[in-house]
Amino acid sequence: MEVYHGKSVLQGIAIGKLYVFQKKESAWKKHSIADADAETVRFEDARGKALSQLDELYDKALSQVGEENAMIFDVHRMMLEDQDYLDAIEARIRTEMVNAEYAVTVTGEEFSATFSSMDDEYMQARAADVLDISGRVVRILEGLDEGGLNTPEPVIVLAEDLTPSETIRMDKSKIMAFVTRQGSANSHTAILARSLNIPSLVNADIRIDASYHGKEAVVDGKDGILIVEPDHETLRQKEKEREAMQREQERLRSLIGKDNVTKDGRSILLYANMGNVEDVDKVLENDAGGIGLFRSEFLYLGREDFPTEEEQFAAYKTVVSRMEGKRVIIRTLDIGADKKADYFHLDTEENPALGYRAIRICLTRPEIFKTQLRAIYRASAFGNVAVMFPMIVSVDEIRRAKAVVEEVKAELDKENKPYGEVELGIMVETPAAALVSLELAREVEFFSIGTNDLTQYTLAIDRQNQKLEPFYDAHHPAVLSLIEMTIQNGHKAGIWVGICGELAADESLTETFLNMGLDELSVSPSYILNLRDKIRQIGS
Ligand code: PEP
Ligand code: MG
Repeated sequence: MEVYHGKSVLQGIAIGKLYVFQKKESAWKKHSIADADAETVRFEDARGKALSQLDELYDKALSQVGEENAMIFDVHRMMLEDQDYLDAIEARIRTEMVNAEYAVTVTGEEFSATFSSMDDEYMQARAADVLDISGRVVRILEGLDEGGLNTPEPVIVLAEDLTPSETIRMDKSKIMAFVTRQGSANSHTAILARSLNIPSLVNADIRIDASYHGKEAVVDGKDGILIVEPDHETLRQKEKEREAMQREQERLRSLIGKDNVTKDGRSILLYANMGNVEDVDKVLENDAGGIGLFRSEFLYLGREDFPTEEEQFAAYKTVVSRMEGKRVIIRTLDIGADKKADYFHLDTEENPALGYRAIRICLTRPEIFKTQLRAIYRASAFGNVAVMFPMIVSVDEIRRAKAVVEEVKAELDKENKPYGEVELGIMVETPAAALVSLELAREVEFFSIGTNDLTQYTLAIDRQNQKLEPFYDAHHPAVLSLIEMTIQNGHKAGIWVGICGELAADESLTETFLNMGLDELSVSPSYILNLRDKIRQIGS
């Protein structure tokens, strides 16, 4: 029996087999090969698959967004048949005797650099395309397109680290717990684990190797431990603890349908955070009063291309309809930092958390923003929708975002496409937004405080950096004062204020938040009933 310790992301006990999730080798790893003919055949097979993918994408885009927009896949197809490009890759494999992943990556970069340096604008635009097609072939060579969990039963996933994109690709019905050696409890992968309601540990002190694969294990999120090959007695003990936790869950279920009211009559809205359309099941099961944060960027992760307006519309419509008139707050795309998708072609940045992300991308790439807003507004015809913008720091940004909303509404009016009344709000998750919250409050109908980023930016502590976790203190008086200031300023301007960061679920602060006059708490679905229980015990 081996016992390891980690930082718990969600309480709960999982008992099952370990599955060692190994990232595929990076394309940057150059290695020698012995058989250039075989490597060339590998490349040709991958290219064939990439061409079929592009055909499918072209057909899909043609039916959904028309010929003009579908043309890009035709251009990619032509590039993947360009003899100069193909000869350069094959020559590199044969002369340098290197793996195809490396040959494709380096050739793609060389071609891209050449295109970028040309005067012709059309050719310059091809620089990104050649990187795109090279990336597609490399992913196929690496087997990433078939990636995911190859197991018939649910398992405990053991990994060095997991990005949100990797997590989103996995078949959730196959995961009973996550354990990662790296990672921080404030990362989006951890948040995803919470929304899936599975016990998880990050920053575990285990050296991961393939020998763990298939071994029996227990993940105890309550004590923050991983037990590999537990002895008989320990296993019995953990099974008993798991049963006790299940009984407690049963007790909490008796709170379904009850109000979130303290003994002295103060009430608060209790909403749920979610990221994937399937999460609505848990939102409804746990009796949330609405959705306080729909992290729409998860619709963009773990895929090869932008979700179309129709795809997004279908997703939002499903969620909104299933909530049957309860408020659904859709946060517009908060991509960037740890949430990355290759097809956005975001540059590598020195300080991604302070970089080109969220509303900054939306305001500078309006075609992406407009597609999303059109889909959200169209879905608003089916229920009660609110929109909120992430990472706001100024009045000007809100006005610019609202101007795009107006354009979208005018387009929909012209096309006779119906939409409903949509409340507009912002995330208050930068110290700047909290400090100018009175001015911002005059522009919108609600605030939702994002304490994960607010803590990161107030304390200047990267939420992703596991080494800094002991310093990441969301209870810091500076953070709490900014929260209080935001609530007061929001109320002064007559708007409602909620919290949707992870701090909302912290029961040690529930009474403090009520005393500050907070109107709403939005948490992972699995925390709703615990929090209702807590609220109902407050006061005398
Ligand atoms: C936050 O920053 O608190 C928040 C809710 O947004 P995210 O965790 O997705 O950055
Ligand atoms: Mg945030």
